[in-house]
Amino acid sequence: MEEIKRTEISVLGEFSLIDRLTKNFKLKNRSSIKGVGDDAAVLDHEGYRTIVSTDLLVEGIHFDLSYFPLRHLGFKSVIANLSDIYAMNATPKQITVSIALSNRFPVEAMDELYFGIQTACEAYNVDLVGGDTTSSRSGLIISITALGIAPEKDIVYRSGAGIGDLICVSGDLGASYLGLQILERERRLQEENPEIQIDLEDQKYIIGRFLKPETRPDIIEAFKDQGIKPTSMIDISDGLASEIMHICKNSGTGAVIYEKEVPIAIETQQMAIKFNIDPITAALSGGEDYELLFTIQPEDLDKVKLIYDVKIIGVIKDPEYGINLMSSGGKIHEITAQGWRHF
Ligand code: ADP
Ligand code: MG
Repeated sequence: MEEIKRTEISVLGEFSLIDRLTKNFKLKNRSSIKGVGDDAAVLDHEGYRTIVSTDLLVEGIHFDLSYFPLRHLGFKSVIANLSDIYAMNATPKQITVSIALSNRFPVEAMDELYFGIQTACEAYNVDLVGGDTTSSRSGLIISITALGIAPEKDIVYRSGAGIGDLICVSGDLGASYLGLQILERERRLQEENPEIQIDLEDQKYIIGRFLKPETRPDIIEAFKDQGIKPTSMIDISDGLASEIMHICKNSGTGAVIYEKEVPIAIETQQMAIKFNIDPITAALSGGEDYELLFTIQPEDLDKVKLIYDVKIIGVIKDPEYGINLMSSGGKIHEITAQGWRHF
């Protein structure tokens, strides 16, 4: 067996660790005046509004390292934050990354985490400009803050949806949730029988959507190209049901979602059936899809149709109508935070 190198963090010390983890990150954006290496970063957003979002991820609560490779975790932690910036119709420019780690983690494990962070920074053209490093007694904690920019007139809030607006979504939904179900099931099987060899090859798409999701700058770009400003927008991190409820609550409206229009990949549909889950439930109650849910004025229909990988899935209604799913069979079901409830 190949021996895996293990260097205790204590051998390096905090400052050498920070140097080692951050030395390969080169500043790419003109707005990043000073990055890692002083008491604070210095940014110049040149008259644009600054958009800030932060996330805290705790081992055992938000991720399980028994099946989540550290480099994927680094990548996904960044994606989750960038997705929030795109959901404001803004462009992310910088991130800070803070970590707390127990002595269970060698330096090499942190190299892996930062490799994933760097891959995401390169893919989405953002700069790592700071962070903090400390120890923990109970595993790994990661906090990422993303900063983005937008002209004031472009910023899209959850609160702007109007009655008659069309509800749109990018990509496909529910796959990530099923990816998690598969990995959880395999972990249980492996615990019961450590000898077992599991082949996940034919579930690549679904597991990939969970372990290494992408986010959607292409959609933000397409809005600019088409001259569209959505009336409201949110990213799908907790499932379609809870996100449409956020838009409706903030906008003071109702909504109808048409089940047959909700994009669900064929792989997701097949796997949902294997797990005895209705595919629409995976889309409504799953999560971590990091797709964009947004509303547009009906006049923009022809323009939105030109955007690749976007589907129109419903219509904003008056608040008395409530928030409902129209099933493929034409029945109306109330959407709740947990998914949807049969009458
Ligand atoms: P201070 O003691 O002033 O908080 P640190 O020694 O923690 O300073 O940080 C030194 C520099 O390294 C700062 O620019 C800080 O933002 C950066 N930094 C610290 N930890 C990390 C980390 N985990 N990832 C990225 N940058 C970090
Ligand atoms: Mg510090």
